[in-house]
Amino acid sequence: MGSCAAHAAASRGARVLLLERFDLLHHRGSSHGESRTIRDAYPQPHYPPMVRLARRLWADAQRDAGYDVLTPAPHLDLGPRDDPALLATIANGGATELPAAGGARPAWADAFRVPEGWTAASGDLGGVIKATKAVAMFQALAAKMGAVVRDRVEVVDIARKQGEGTTIVVRTSSGEEFHGAKCIVTVGAWTSKLVKSVTGADLPVQPLHTLICYWKIKPGYEHELTTEAGFPTFASYGDTWIYSTPSMEYPGLIKISMHGGPPCNPDGRDWAIGPGEGGLVDPVARWIEKVMPGHVDTAGGPVLRLPCMYSMTPDEDFVIDFLGGEEFGRDVVVGAGFSGHGFKMAPAVGRILAEMALDGEARTATEAGVELQHFRIGRFEGNPMGNATSF
Ligand SMILES: Cc1cc2nc3c(=O)[nH]c(=O)nc-3n(C[C@H](O)[C@H](O)[C@H](O)COP(=O)(O)OP(=O)(O)OC[C@H]3O[C@@H](n4cnc5c(N)ncnc54)[C@H](O)[C@@H]3O)c2cc1C
Repeated sequence: MGSCAAHAAASRGARVLLLERFDLLHHRGSSHGESRTIRDAYPQPHYPPMVRLARRLWADAQRDAGYDVLTPAPHLDLGPRDDPALLATIANGGATELPAAGGARPAWADAFRVPEGWTAASGDLGGVIKATKAVAMFQALAAKMGAVVRDRVEVVDIARKQGEGTTIVVRTSSGEEFHGAKCIVTVGAWTSKLVKSVTGADLPVQPLHTLICYWKIKPGYEHELTTEAGFPTFASYGDTWIYSTPSMEYPGLIKISMHGGPPCNPDGRDWAIGPGEGGLVDPVARWIEKVMPGHVDTAGGPVLRLPCMYSMTPDEDFVIDFLGGEEFGRDVVVGAGFSGHGFKMAPAVGRILAEMALDGEARTATEAGVELQHFRIGRFEGNPMGNATSF
């Protein structure tokens, strides 16, 4: 998010400094790795406009960079026929129910054995984004627009300079100070810690340990499950939320993982990727056995397991707001709590954060029909669950 915000602000002609605590493109946060899904199928109606805005900005960035990071694909949603979130997704128009059998079904649908009482719905607007490549692209584009990008710089404090009302001072662990008119905070799983130490406020952004799992495709189906063959990204609703990207980065393997995971301390992780893994592997294996038994091999577990972190809000809605208070007013903006589904919207979020910082409001969001009130910090005041609904 920070790289996209830096690019958006630099593109407006602002003098931008992007600070990263670890090495650029490190694997210790939430945005590294080979793939993220993009889909506009969402149960909450406030996300599809942001996905559509992001798609436009992904295309612009790819054009400016001269290479692609997003591979379009169909998208499939499936799950229990009475699942409220799945029903809401279909009602929002992001996915159309597939017939149980017959010629109107895409050929790839045969890879799924949709259980009794379940339904499957598909749409055209799925896709796979190469995650690390995309972050590198936005950092390079930001630098090209004049942003200064520095890594191995840990921000430890943000304050307003005493006696100089318009200056925000950012201090680092090595004692450096940077002065600017505005500040955008996008520190992922470290948000609660940093905001607490800067303002004393408790922002409910909980880091979670999660796992990306790659499974072996059964012999003979390796090509069928690829993006080249038109295989979809998919999400499975119900008690366990399962998501997948088609076979792409590791030929012969497909990524099928489970949303969520146990709470973790981003500064004290054990990197565990053992069997069971807090229930992050076995439910996926059981799901594959139930829904894709003919095509994916679960014997011996996933071939690859890669750790990652979510930064969860109680309602899984993002936090995009001014940090506020007397000290910061509208000069410090925070983007956080992307709850395991923010990557696809990163260029839109970056643009919104940059406009909020530079203009005090996000005109692009308004024009695109993105309703920012869902992402306000104030939703948690006296209501710890924020926007949470039955799904
Ligand atoms: C396994 C997995 C699968 C996912 N799948 C999808 C998907 O399919 N589709 C989708 O849309 N989204 C997906 N997501 C979610 C998406 O990747 C995240 O929402 C997004 O990457 C969050 O970005 P971020 O900028 O908030 O956090 P990060 O990428 O972690 O960035 C925060 C940065 O701040 C830096 N930082 C922290 N503290 C400081 C400090 N004090 N000073 C300086 N720098 C600091 C960190 O080092 C880090 O680089 C997935 C996430 C995971 C983990």
